[in-house]
Amino acid sequence: MRVVVLGAGVVGLATAYYLVQDGHEVTVVDRNDGVALETSYANGAQLSYSYVAPLAGPGVLPKIPPWLLRRDSPLRFYPRLDPHQWRWLMQFVLACTARQSDQTTRRLLALSFYSRRLMDALQAREAIEFGHARNGKLVVHSDPASFAAAKRLVEYQRSLGCEQSALSRDECVAVEPALAGGPGTLGARVAGGIHTPSEEVGDCYRFCVGLEHRLVAIGVALRLGVTVSRLVANGRRVTHAETSGGDLAGDAFVVALGAQTPWLTRPLGVELPVYPLKGYSLTLPITGAAPAVSVTDFKRKVVYAPLDGPAGPQLRVAGMADVAGHSRRPDPVRVGQLVAEARAAFPGATDYAAPLASLQPWTGLRPATPKGSPLLGRTPVDGLFVNCGQGALGWTLALASGRVVADDLAGRRPEISLEQFAVSE
Ligand SMILES: Cc1cc2nc3c(=O)[nH]c(=O)nc-3n(C[C@H](O)[C@H](O)[C@H](O)COP(=O)(O)OP(=O)(O)OC[C@H]3O[C@@H](n4cnc5c(N)ncnc54)[C@H](O)[C@@H]3O)c2cc1C
Repeated sequence: MRVVVLGAGVVGLATAYYLVQDGHEVTVVDRNDGVALETSYANGAQLSYSYVAPLAGPGVLPKIPPWLLRRDSPLRFYPRLDPHQWRWLMQFVLACTARQSDQTTRRLLALSFYSRRLMDALQAREAIEFGHARNGKLVVHSDPASFAAAKRLVEYQRSLGCEQSALSRDECVAVEPALAGGPGTLGARVAGGIHTPSEEVGDCYRFCVGLEHRLVAIGVALRLGVTVSRLVANGRRVTHAETSGGDLAGDAFVVALGAQTPWLTRPLGVELPVYPLKGYSLTLPITGAAPAVSVTDFKRKVVYAPLDGPAGPQLRVAGMADVAGHSRRPDPVRVGQLVAEARAAFPGATDYAAPLASLQPWTGLRPATPKGSPLLGRTPVDGLFVNCGQGALGWTLALASGRVVADDLAGRRPEISLEQFAVSE
């Protein structure tokens, strides 16, 4: 079959990898001149296989008013005259129940554990160099009540196969000595933490470039610098994509355009509840005391991931979720807040007085669904498949998402049931 994959982010590239192994003739199209130059470029670097609880949960609703009122809160809402934004928010609020959150966590864990197995297999076969390390993840809580709630989640997740343990402050410092810092640092605020030794980190962009080289070597056609403007259907079957490089025909199309996916599917009557949650990151050259374990500040929703970069050790700092439309333009105030956050947490990690450019500020749009589950597989339109909505877990879930969509396209039964990620659900 001739299959066209729209989008060369980590999700589109992973899909292409499994499609070409099924013997399809695969073309990948992207508007940028290189792969993974949008949300997959400088994300939080966490392969967070065991820590998948969705943003929508029962504890979130009471936090929303203070989050919305404080200028430095981790989540901010900028109202737009956009019915899609308001509909997404209403669906998000409705998803903030314990039942929905548990169900989504269960589904995401099945998908993420599958992704971990696929990553092991892919690395055994392709050996892509992307600073991949299994250095564990420590989520620290400064509020005793949130630590107590996290301990309950550990019990629930243990029943689903996660190996995590709850640690006291001293135990957290033993696992990550960079948390021993003085007054005002993140370490001084820790009430306790949840440690998951099996969690991994890796640079998503370097992985995508490595995968791109592999895809080209095994016959995938990459059409970079080509913008897709419309998908055209003849009756109920998609026939071609209109692009800045001319029409592109195919027997099947997989739309993996991240937060832009609904724009292409909506005119065909396929409405997807995907909205961008804008986030920020910094990539700091490590020059002093920095964590060796991946650390998450639960209260401030900031992750700190040590990366073995090609030019030396780096600390990827990522956070914030702004419900603010599709602009990727960085807000200097938010960048300043993230720098201040990192400086307070790990003051010795880098030279914070260096020019801002050396801290490599970046923004990306998480393609988020209200419930936190991705949308995978066939749609009511023949020949039209989607792979989107992985939100804050797109790097973690990319391989399993790509595998199950390729299975669906081939008419095989995927290892993970697609009913739970179906477009119509
Ligand atoms: C601050 C931040 C931190 C994050 N941290 C993590 C983390 O630690 N772990 C994790 O698992 N996930 C993380 N994520 C989420 C993860 O980065 C995303 O879920 C993932 O990158 C989405 O990949 P994608 O391929 O769907 O989208 P993208 O990478 O955005 O790819 C979509 C592609 O489509 C192309 N495109 C769009 N429109 C068109 C068009 N009309 N024509 C042609 N091409 C088009 C774009 O150029 C782009 O390359 C984070 C995200 C952010 C923002």
